Amino acid sequence: MRTLLPHEERHDVTLRPSAVAKVWLGVGQPHETVAVPGVALSGGDVLVAIELSTVCGSDVHTVQGHRSAPTPLVLGHESVGRVIAIGDDGAVTADGTVLHIGDRVVWSVTVSCGTCDRCVAGFTQKCRSLAKYGHERIGPRWELTGGFATHVHLRAGTAIVRVPEALPAAVLAPASCATATAWAAVTRGSAGRSLEGIRVLVYGAGLVGLSAAAIAADDGAEVTIVDPSAARRTFAERFGATALMESAGPADLVIEASGHAVAESIAAAGIGGTVVLVGSVFPADPVLLDAESLVRRLVTVTGVHNYTGRDLAAAVAFLAGRGRAFPFTDVVGAVHPLDDVDAALIAASAPGAPLRVALNPR
Ligand SMILES: [Zn+2]
Ligand SMILES: [Zn+2]
Repeated sequence: MRTLLPHEERHDVTLRPSAVAKVWLGVGQPHETVAVPGVALSGGDVLVAIELSTVCGSDVHTVQGHRSAPTPLVLGHESVGRVIAIGDDGAVTADGTVLHIGDRVVWSVTVSCGTCDRCVAGFTQKCRSLAKYGHERIGPRWELTGGFATHVHLRAGTAIVRVPEALPAAVLAPASCATATAWAAVTRGSAGRSLEGIRVLVYGAGLVGLSAAAIAADDGAEVTIVDPSAARRTFAERFGATALMESAGPADLVIEASGHAVAESIAAAGIGGTVVLVGSVFPADPVLLDAESLVRRLVTVTGVHNYTGRDLAAAVAFLAGRGRAFPFTDVVGAVHPLDDVDAALIAASAPGAPLRVALNPR
């Protein structure tokens, strides 16, 4: 985490009414409401008024106790909002343009230093001094750390992407987790080649899988998506994919977006195929690896976790452009007021829940 040097200037911002954050205290406990009457922005920091946040599967996993998290914690890392204050040195977007008060933006889940060996190598999501929105214990100088709040305090080192006014918030909020991660997964799998005519098999019709299917289909791939849920298969057909209950390999590119079909994904890769594992973001039993089979099929297996600022910018450009051909507007099935955060999390984990449940802080 970036520590403030004593000589650094701070830009104090007073908030009337106070910003409000919903703070998660632990499994089985309701969220608490914390009022934040002001923030001190360091150089490069940005204060954003949140327009809409969506509940990601990992937020649900956290409140159910399936993954550990430091508390007290402001959850939420899929949001869209508007810049209302900027630290004294100004701030720039991920593509290097100057950020202005009033800009509508999305931002990366990660805060990266940009100078450590991992950042320099292109793995900004694994920065040596990484911080993540929706994942950090709140502290005295950084309370507005997540999306389940009226405002979020973006720190220098966050990839900020300006977004079009015309695009619905429901399309944009998931960009900073599901869409950008899907973009990173497809980019890794395609390795710079066009996917025209390539057989792509996606496991899991959650939002990462659907987004990957749409991105690949738009690039000309023949996309098949596998999911046990009939409702999700029906929805997936609208994202340019043929949806099946069970695997239909071999495929040239396999994207495992569920975390539950790792062995099937590796088995489904054809000669010279690539398997991108992106869904395994929770503890699960190890998978046996048939090394001889991998060798004889010349298969590449690769992992993708989170994404870079470049992926986020590309994901937003897709949603604002050719991605409009796909029904991303329909992924948010319910919008709750911020005060109903506990009910929203229950709704997001219920059987047959929509792909995303949203929180509106206004
Ligand atoms: Zn997420
Ligand atoms: Zn770094």
